[in-house]
Amino acid sequence: MIHVEDVREARRRIADVVRVTPLLTSEQLSSRCGNEIYLKAEHLQKTGSFKIRGATNKVKQAVQEGATHVTAASSGNHGQAVAYIAQRLGISATIVVPEDAATCKTDAIRAYGGEIVPCGFTSAERLPRAKEIAAQRNGVYIPPYDDPFVMAGQGTIGLEILEQIADADAVIVPIGGGGLISGILTAIKETNPQVKVIGVEPALANDTWLSRERKEIVSIPATKTIADGLRTSQPGSLTFPVLMKYLDDLVLVSEEEIRHAFRFVLERMKQMIEPSSATTVAAAMFGKLPFSGKKVVTVISGGNADIGTITDILEQ
Ligand SMILES: *Cc1c(COP(=O)(O)O)cnc(C)c1O
Repeated sequence: MIHVEDVREARRRIADVVRVTPLLTSEQLSSRCGNEIYLKAEHLQKTGSFKIRGATNKVKQAVQEGATHVTAASSGNHGQAVAYIAQRLGISATIVVPEDAATCKTDAIRAYGGEIVPCGFTSAERLPRAKEIAAQRNGVYIPPYDDPFVMAGQGTIGLEILEQIADADAVIVPIGGGGLISGILTAIKETNPQVKVIGVEPALANDTWLSRERKEIVSIPATKTIADGLRTSQPGSLTFPVLMKYLDDLVLVSEEEIRHAFRFVLERMKQMIEPSSATTVAAAMFGKLPFSGKKVVTVISGGNADIGTITDILEQ
């Protein structure tokens, strides 16, 4: 299990690459929610999501140990983050993507210097391919969440929040594979355990919610939630124990609630966030939090939504 010292070390290691993102506020949003809401703006992060934090921590570690190549199996934010940091550190990256990956995503990876390898349609096909390429090229496979260096890197958000708002009552975090929330939990609970940490999943992708109920890792079939960063089928074997140890609460939001929160943040706050991030705002807006009148930080995990998705949401 990782500890807050690992998160502090990660913070030193990634400081020259990663932005300290601001906390944004909106009086309208706060009054709608009945809590004082602060948005931790990782959509303004390098590469457009928090994934650069964990990727940088892990890739720097790999380079220190002599790696000259890295691979990842993700067409989304993790793939972009790994391509970006590899290029910046002067090593090469191969990103294995599904054969039907959107061209806007593969273009973004190529723009960061990543080499694209299309492979199959499921992660079960892509993962072994990414590991195989790493083995052939003196490389290291960079996991999206289930890795101590990745988790510690994501946790640096927790340290920033504690410094930016010393009297926060609660932090709301979206859950995919659980790398983001396990890092933040470690940082916050091992520094100031009074601060509540609440996870959010789409009701359509409730694998962690089910696993927490049953106290063991449960896998769900593929899901179509618009929160595409949260479509993982089960929590990680390293992330889940952290969550079981520290998590205060886990709430679910509907697709309609996610769309509504997305529209609110775009229209009223003029911020382009992605649906996965809108889940935390949705939890605050639709009465899912078990308190009111508190200072609440909602983690906005990223802002990489393609134009097609945005028009779909706005038309519905
Ligand atoms: C990856 C991702 C998540 C989920 O993070 P996990 O570490 O997998 O739980 C949430 N939001 C966005 C924008 C992401 O890219």
